[in-house]
Amino acid sequence: PIRVRFAPSPTGMFHVGGARSALFNWAIARQQPDGKFVLRIEDTDAARNKPEWTEGILRALSALGINEEDPHFEGPYYQSQLADAHRELCERLFKGGNAYYEEAKGVEGDDAPTGARYDRRHRDAGLDWAPGRALRFRAPDDGVTVVRDTIRGDVEFPNSAIEDFVIARGDGSPLFVLANVADDITQGVTHVIRGEEHLSNTPKQQLLWEALGHTPPVWAHLPVIVNEKRQKLSKRRDKVSLEMYLEEGYLPEAMVNYLMLLGWAPGDDREIMPFDQMQPLFRLEDVNSSSAFFDEKKLRAFNGEYIRALEPEEFVARCAPWLGPDKAPWPAANFDAAAFDAIAPLAQSRIAVLGEIVANVDFLFLDAPVEDEQSWNKAMKPGVGKEMLAAAIERFSDDGLVWEPEALKAALEEVGTGLGLKLGKAQAPIRVAVTGRTVGLPLFESLQLLGRARVQERLRAALA
Ligand code: GLU
Repeated sequence: PIRVRFAPSPTGMFHVGGARSALFNWAIARQQPDGKFVLRIEDTDAARNKPEWTEGILRALSALGINEEDPHFEGPYYQSQLADAHRELCERLFKGGNAYYEEAKGVEGDDAPTGARYDRRHRDAGLDWAPGRALRFRAPDDGVTVVRDTIRGDVEFPNSAIEDFVIARGDGSPLFVLANVADDITQGVTHVIRGEEHLSNTPKQQLLWEALGHTPPVWAHLPVIVNEKRQKLSKRRDKVSLEMYLEEGYLPEAMVNYLMLLGWAPGDDREIMPFDQMQPLFRLEDVNSSSAFFDEKKLRAFNGEYIRALEPEEFVARCAPWLGPDKAPWPAANFDAAAFDAIAPLAQSRIAVLGEIVANVDFLFLDAPVEDEQSWNKAMKPGVGKEMLAAAIERFSDDGLVWEPEALKAALEEVGTGLGLKLGKAQAPIRVAVTGRTVGLPLFESLQLLGRARVQERLRAALA
């Protein structure tokens, strides 16, 4: 059976590139009834690891649907707990003559030039381990190592360019190349699907697999992800944290959909497609080897589509995290669930990210609307602003006016005409006075929900 793995190092925020690798692995694992996705946290770099990064990875994967509730999921394993196996494999390589110890640096004078040939200076010295002696793999002298990559085809590495690389430091601790292979072997991994940045490690790792008497796994190196300037996505420059997207209100299912398209496509120009439909179609052979553009605008558009496709009650439920006291700007006691339910459909058809819900509905729950000077000046032009406010107050105080969108629209049209203004212009001062903004949800529904008394109060305050 297929056993894939995802092996993140918990050294920072969980990157969208990592999420894409995880999803491609997940899709493959789920194509066989007993296929497994092994999650291995490579937490051996004590100086750079933090438990919160590990928690972030687990949380984010789970949000994407990759968690122990699914029988294809196995783990998590922690590499820091697998040190015995790493030592054992080092021992085997040493005993089998595939690796040798070198004299500790500085013991013998380090004035010779560095480079592949120099690194081999203790190759035939027959040293045993002693503190400070690193273990080096005996790389082949000539020939080529061919990595059969499912996405790129055969990639050839001349062995003359592969140095006798270190697999364990002078204190016995293994290096990445060794620990990573050791765990893949012990965990029965059949497919290594990971980012292209690891391709340079692969010939060394393949040599390790072979030296340990195992057939190397199927390799697949996924294309780099780039920004709009075609630069490799970087955490210093670009927004790459999956959790940041989720916190802003990108839906996990929209993220999954978008990430699956970074280097792959289901064909027939289909783009919006839930994971369960894409997963059976996914084939590593169809992954593109050229770089994949992470287009934030497109992601945003996807997210808007996913938001609009939610059932109305589901939309309300998904908004909840933004409406509570820790995120919302209004006094908690002001929140009115019935009013929110009533306005939610208007917002659902307009926002692209759930977090935008707040700015769209805050006028209903704040004691006074947000004050945005720029919007204010734009809408309250001399000769229009105050005049409209005064005339609207007058018109709205007529008890005969039914407080419903149709009637309100007709009333404002009438007021505007009286001042020589088209409806669009006539609305602006009212909208700003009532919501604080020049753009927002449909005005007449907003007025209705806010109620006559509060509308009048805000118009008066704006006029004062
Ligand atoms: N811990 C490595 C990384 O996060 C794993 C690479 C691999 O998948 O082999 O880059």
